[in-house]
Amino acid sequence: MKNPFLFILLALCGLCSLTCSNPTGKETAKKNKIPVYAWLGGPGTSTDEEIREKFEFYKEQGIDVLMYNGGQDPEVYRRVGKIARLAGLGFHTWIPTMVQAKTPEIAEEWYAINGLGESALVKPAYVDYYKFLCPSKEGVYRFLENMYSRVARVEEVDAIHLDYIRFPDVILARGLWDKYKLVMDREYPQYDYCYCEDCTEAFKQQTGIDIKKADDPSQVEEWKSFRYDLITRLVNRLADTIHATGKQINAAVFPGPGSVAKKLVRQEWDKWKLDAFFPMNYNDFYLEGTDWIGAVTKEAVTAIEGKKPVISGLFICPDPAKKASEQDPENHGLVPEELGEAIRQSMMNGATGICLFTPERMTEKHWVVFREAIYRKANME
Ligand SMILES: [Zn+2]
Repeated sequence: MKNPFLFILLALCGLCSLTCSNPTGKETAKKNKIPVYAWLGGPGTSTDEEIREKFEFYKEQGIDVLMYNGGQDPEVYRRVGKIARLAGLGFHTWIPTMVQAKTPEIAEEWYAINGLGESALVKPAYVDYYKFLCPSKEGVYRFLENMYSRVARVEEVDAIHLDYIRFPDVILARGLWDKYKLVMDREYPQYDYCYCEDCTEAFKQQTGIDIKKADDPSQVEEWKSFRYDLITRLVNRLADTIHATGKQINAAVFPGPGSVAKKLVRQEWDKWKLDAFFPMNYNDFYLEGTDWIGAVTKEAVTAIEGKKPVISGLFICPDPAKKASEQDPENHGLVPEELGEAIRQSMMNGATGICLFTPERMTEKHWVVFREAIYRKANME
């Protein structure tokens, strides 16, 4: 060959026509693969090399996008995001919204107040980290807007992923009652928020109702709607801000929204202007099986009229052999024998993909079932 450039050009053309007109088996499989997301935290003390190895392993298993929790420092996301990109993974930043530890940036009076008048900062519900902010405060919104905008401006970040974008659980999921030694047969004031002056006054102005004088606030429908709207308004303002940076924004939500999310945590998420929804379809927390995952996936897709992707969040059991004897529901979840069916139920009922909580809880048996299931769509066609 006299002209090496011509040779390269011909070779490229050959390659192009091959892939364009005759897709390889690998590409067909890729096209039919179920999109897979995964919630993951880090980086801790890991080196770049250690992160790279882990990300490449996840990519090989079939994960496409990481929902990465690395605190609030944009530089952490720049560093880890670069490695994710090199591994061929999408990169969304998973950062809690309404739950915030006290820092000098956050005023004490921004924390939510329960029906007994107690601050979530001083006396959080259930667990020490349940320090929820009040969604009425402009300072709270400004803090969140600033924090998420700085992260969204990092080039390697594809999307902002909100979590804990809600009120504290006024009712806990049924599977958690024993753990906290509670019977949550109705709404109790110590778990019911927010009764701060800003929230109760704004509600009074809007409806004429003094909720502090109500015999049973849980029976006042307007008070429920008012609080759904507080969260919805905050989400939609954040969505406008993040979209202005050219990035996407989505959220982890409770299942439903009608069956669980509204009742337990006051999320009317079908009204949120987000790019995707990640319902945490954690069946074991509700003492349900894999059929339930299908039912709540269908409910989610129907609620948003199929207009946005619903990614079905699946809770993985880290030690399947011990599931039956394990007391703590946090260690329950899908065993390998259930994982394939959970994925199938999600996809058959309209999910766009699935999200693993978490890849680090997956055992070798889980990965075997998983790899088979994510290509099942291709096998069915
Ligand atoms: Zn409030």
